Amino acid sequence: MIVTKEYMKTRCLALLKERGVEIADITQIVYDLQKKYIPTLSMDICEEAVDRVLSKREVHNAILTGVELDMLAEQGKLSEPLQSLIDEDNPLFGIDEILVLSICNLYGSIGLTNFGYVDKTKPGIIGRLDTLGKTTGHCHTFMDDIIGAVAAAAASSVAHNNAL
Ligand code: MG
Repeated sequence: MIVTKEYMKTRCLALLKERGVEIADITQIVYDLQKKYIPTLSMDICEEAVDRVLSKREVHNAILTGVELDMLAEQGKLSEPLQSLIDEDNPLFGIDEILVLSICNLYGSIGLTNFGYVDKTKPGIIGRLDTLGKTTGHCHTFMDDIIGAVAAAAASSVAHNNAL
């Protein structure tokens, strides 16, 4: 099959929605990350930045891979010991954070520091996904990092666009 960029983006946006993530959730994190540096910042500027990030093929590849692994773990379809490592969100697994580095690095090193920050503080939808993963049968081992990385890269893009 011919996989166009447009097809990839449409599929990734649908996957995010299916897995309980709205673009507005990501936009809110970007706004909160950048508002103290840019007094004139608007939600529209942040939403445009999220859309820029979600238009990149590196991002599509990470979303398709991570979400697929989350869904397979949720259905108990992976082989052991990978099944348990992902389903339990084992803190020593670490491949979820590594997978999304390609997203963090899209707009320079601010993306990486922002990612570390949201990974620790778990704002908004990231915290909600983390709790859902622990309290229900859902698995969001990769999704929380995907969202954190998309928000971090979008915040970085906003910062670069605002620089003089
Ligand atoms: Mg994770």
